Amino acid sequence: MNDCVFCKIIKGEIPSEKLYEDDLMVVIKDICPKAEKHYLAIPKKHFKLLSEMTAQDAVDLGNCMKKAGELAETLGLQNGFRLIINQGEDADQTVFHLHMHLLGGQKLQETDYKNKD
Ligand code: AMP
Ligand code: ZN
Repeated sequence: MNDCVFCKIIKGEIPSEKLYEDDLMVVIKDICPKAEKHYLAIPKKHFKLLSEMTAQDAVDLGNCMKKAGELAETLGLQNGFRLIINQGEDADQTVFHLHMHLLGGQKLQETDYKNKD
């Protein structure tokens, strides 16, 4: 957990473009955007998989999702966005701290995510 890049971002040990922060999560710009607008909503508690969550984690993640919806307009996602949570190897999860991708700012095609270039 100590070498987790998102834990370091949450603690301010690695710089990031933070757009929002509360007790439960931070929202940052993805360093390698796959759409015109690409944010990461990162719960502050470190865990990798949905299957590892406690009941309280599930409540907290629900609240993070609710907040992401409320922030959409501020983030320039008022026309809609795609919410993605990659889980494990087949989904190409590269950072093992659960996070939600918010993609938008353009009309998204089915294949946009991970295939932009
Ligand atoms: P995933 O493949 O779902 O695990 O997504 C990890 C995401 O984190 C990728 O889209 C990366 O571009 C992004 N990422 C990795 N390191 C950083 C960082 N230091 N700041 C912002 N985004 C990052
Ligand atoms: Zn972490």
